[in-house]
Amino acid sequence: MRRRRRSAAGGALAARILHLGGDATGAGLIDALTAAVRRDPAIRILEDAFVARVLLDDVGGPPRAVGVEVLQDAAPRPIAASAVVLATGGAGQLYEHTTNPAIATGDGVALAWRAGAVVSDLEFFQFHPTALDVPGNPLISEAVRGEGARLVDAHGHRFMPDYHPDGDLAPRDVVSRSIARHLAQDPVAAPGVRPEDAAASRRARCVYLDATALGADFLARRFPSLTALTARHGYDWSAAVVPVVPAAHYWMGGVRTDVDGRTSVQGLFAVGEVARTGVHGANRLASNSLLEAVVFATRCAAAISAGGGTAPVFDAEVLDLDAEEAGTQPVTRRELQAVMADHAGLLRTGSGLDVAAKQLASYRAGTDPETANLLLCARLLVHAAADRPGSCGAHYRSDQPDSALHRPAPSRSYIRIPEGAQP
Ligand SMILES: Cc1cc2nc3c(=O)[nH]c(=O)nc-3n(C[C@H](O)[C@H](O)[C@H](O)COP(=O)(O)OP(=O)(O)OC[C@H]3O[C@@H](n4cnc5c(N)ncnc54)[C@H](O)[C@@H]3O)c2cc1C
Repeated sequence: MRRRRRSAAGGALAARILHLGGDATGAGLIDALTAAVRRDPAIRILEDAFVARVLLDDVGGPPRAVGVEVLQDAAPRPIAASAVVLATGGAGQLYEHTTNPAIATGDGVALAWRAGAVVSDLEFFQFHPTALDVPGNPLISEAVRGEGARLVDAHGHRFMPDYHPDGDLAPRDVVSRSIARHLAQDPVAAPGVRPEDAAASRRARCVYLDATALGADFLARRFPSLTALTARHGYDWSAAVVPVVPAAHYWMGGVRTDVDGRTSVQGLFAVGEVARTGVHGANRLASNSLLEAVVFATRCAAAISAGGGTAPVFDAEVLDLDAEEAGTQPVTRRELQAVMADHAGLLRTGSGLDVAAKQLASYRAGTDPETANLLLCARLLVHAAADRPGSCGAHYRSDQPDSALHRPAPSRSYIRIPEGAQP
């Protein structure tokens, strides 16, 4: 096997990350996986099919997943299955700046929650510090800073060493929070400026990534996709700085599973970003998603082939969101994202989380199922964040920065109140 170059990333002590095609690792993985799936005649592919519900059978015992309801061409239809595996990815669309694709609307967490599965650690959402500040927020990989690029502010000041001894290669959460703090120091609240306008103005600002010292040849060779990406948006990053913002990137929390992907509902499994296996704790190290996607997915497939096994029992607090689901104010995805960015993003406070909870409780999602899923996930995340005082990993309370409250950090799990039960 050809020896491949490994690179480091923020928070990592060793260079351990493999790459394909320079900076096209994800595309390489997806291409290989797609080809393997298409080759397998036992796999039936349904394009543009939206899973709207997990079907349950509770005759003679606890509920068991027996299939899904799928919307295809807007018509719902059931698909029976002896095992249902949620592999729906993350929920970056909870926030207005996200590296995630448009499909990352928390569907798996919402589906599992409604099916009665335990969810855990929802307050832990990782923000990537360097998304390009253009629509869609494409990611500028940490590897660029690993190779020597630096963050600077609008005055050209290299600010990261002011916040952490590891400077630009501090862990992701530290760099993202430092950017938010640094930007917050610039006053936008002037007399006569409405608080919501000040918040919008604060959200609209950015810092810059300076990769000019790396040189055009190196950048083109080492980061061909990023060189093309920045050029597509009108930037020559070998000659000038590019604007970057922290963007929602990875949800450490999710549907709680055991090490074989089993959720607390019999027959329902979860793998990939939607799952909360616990391996990332409160903060994921860069490039560790493969652990979820490859290791746990393989274990899950083996477990299902061997009969599925018995659903694990997890301790969980029963949570009644019914009152919150009685909101009447129609909400757009953009409004939801603004509430989350202002009060449940990088820097949180108890009072801000209260504001967010009240605002979210007043909303009604309308007919778009993805916005309904986002609203449910937002309510769950805000509840979990308000439930955890102090700061821990990606959950940072600027009014309670003390992390000593959580050593070791207890995991928090929730389950919905069973249908028909009294609160
Ligand atoms: C820009 C970017 C760069 C990243 N770089 C790295 C990296 O270098 N290393 C690393 O380890 N991780 C990285 N990550 C994280 C990693 O890519 C993700 O965690 C991982 O791809 C998630 O895989 P998944 O299979 O769980 O979900 P996804 O790959 O998001 O797939 C989910 C699938 O489920 C489908 N789906 C969702 N909801 C429904 C529904 N209701 N009905 C039907 N289908 C549905 C979606 O359409 C999609 O096809 C990166 C993430 C991003 C956004």
